[in-house]
Amino acid sequence: MTLIDETSTIPAGGPTLEQVRRIVTELPGPRSAAILARKAEAVAAGVAHSMPVSVVAAGGGVVLDADGNSLIDLGSGIAVTSVGNAHPKVAAAVAAQAAQFTHTCFMVSPYESYVDVAEALNRLTPGDFAKKTALFNSGAEAVENAIKIARKHTGRQAVVAFDHGYHGRTNLTMALTAKSMPYKAGFGPFAPEVYRVPGSYPYRDGLTGAEAATRAITLIEKQIGADSLAAVIIEPIQGEGGFIVPADGFLDAVVAWCRDNGVVFIADEVQTGFARTGSMFASEIFGIEPDLITTAKGIAAGLPLAGVTGRAEIMDAAHAGGLGGTYGGNPIACAAALAAIDAFENDGLIERAQQIGALLTERLGAIRENDPRLGDIRGHGAMIAVEFVDAETGAPDAALTSAVAKACVAEGVIILTCGTFGNVIRFLPPLSIGDDLLNEGIDVLAAALERA
Ligand SMILES: *Cc1c(COP(=O)(O)O)cnc(C)c1O
Repeated sequence: MTLIDETSTIPAGGPTLEQVRRIVTELPGPRSAAILARKAEAVAAGVAHSMPVSVVAAGGGVVLDADGNSLIDLGSGIAVTSVGNAHPKVAAAVAAQAAQFTHTCFMVSPYESYVDVAEALNRLTPGDFAKKTALFNSGAEAVENAIKIARKHTGRQAVVAFDHGYHGRTNLTMALTAKSMPYKAGFGPFAPEVYRVPGSYPYRDGLTGAEAATRAITLIEKQIGADSLAAVIIEPIQGEGGFIVPADGFLDAVVAWCRDNGVVFIADEVQTGFARTGSMFASEIFGIEPDLITTAKGIAAGLPLAGVTGRAEIMDAAHAGGLGGTYGGNPIACAAALAAIDAFENDGLIERAQQIGALLTERLGAIRENDPRLGDIRGHGAMIAVEFVDAETGAPDAALTSAVAKACVAEGVIILTCGTFGNVIRFLPPLSIGDDLLNEGIDVLAAALERA
């Protein structure tokens, strides 16, 4: 199937793709529009999209569509292509593995690359203790398995998640996820024994980390009881909920309480992991050592792979055959992960994430000086967000946020919104993007803000 007629050639993706924003048609152009019309006929309506294009190549900091429009990528496919799309090391590793074997099922006949990925995760995740890893296909599946493991280890059932948390779209992870629309509405009943407490949202709750932790712990003790609690699960920096960075002291107080009470502390680093925040894992920023860490998104540059990594004695609680899945730790996904991890460790990507964070924070801060609708700018590394508010009341301004995001999309900038109140624009550029494109993306955003 060709997306472009034979007379035109589709350039290869990866870093050799021309690094420009170039809009040659309305968005969507005619070729994309035709494909999107077929999508509307063939694909379930629940599978929505935010950028009205059909992609033919991507790399560096751009995404190329079927009409030749070259778009600035400030989303990385939701924090996935952190090493860059079609990264040469990843593409070569995937091609080589696909020519060797594509699947055996690791539970039937194992292979080395899965063990390599497990060893890498055991080594790279925070905590100087014996660790083990199990691999899965998606972030939600990793979260489900972390909960299974914590329940088996503790012999307890209850799980605590937090306001504004996001953990996926499967039944158990819908229960863990806070936001109803669009993630949960109409899809219940949800898994039992999941409880939600407030976390730390300094911009809106005005509490110190210690105060927010006391509030959460008191609720847990009074309403659930430590003796019933298997696990506490939290994103060190909340992703879909609005890139909420907890106040200093919050996470370590919760970790300490979990340790004192035999509760498994799970850090969901599906979005924050793998250099995204300017550290290999966001837990490092807060100086915490989670008992279990879930990973996915950035781990394998877009190949479906996820992991649960943590204390060996907890990971080994599940009986033989209790964990796994047909595809979990697929050899092509493992090959991609090993290539991506090589790039994270050896190509300066952690430093690059820090530089991107500094550039974004500075540019957005300058805009905010003259525009109080930018209520809060927060995040770490290449995971930065702006919370838009009514300048007078400080109330969340979802209408402004979606108008600005829409204007950026129309001008060829892939931009994502998030937040419980729909009033946050988040920046998750690939770490392979250049400063020119980043600056141009912010220029487009600034112009859209002036018009809005
Ligand atoms: C995206 C995400 C998930 C779910 O991952 P999927 O691969 O979409 O199932 C879970 N937790 C967090 C923090 C996420 O950002």
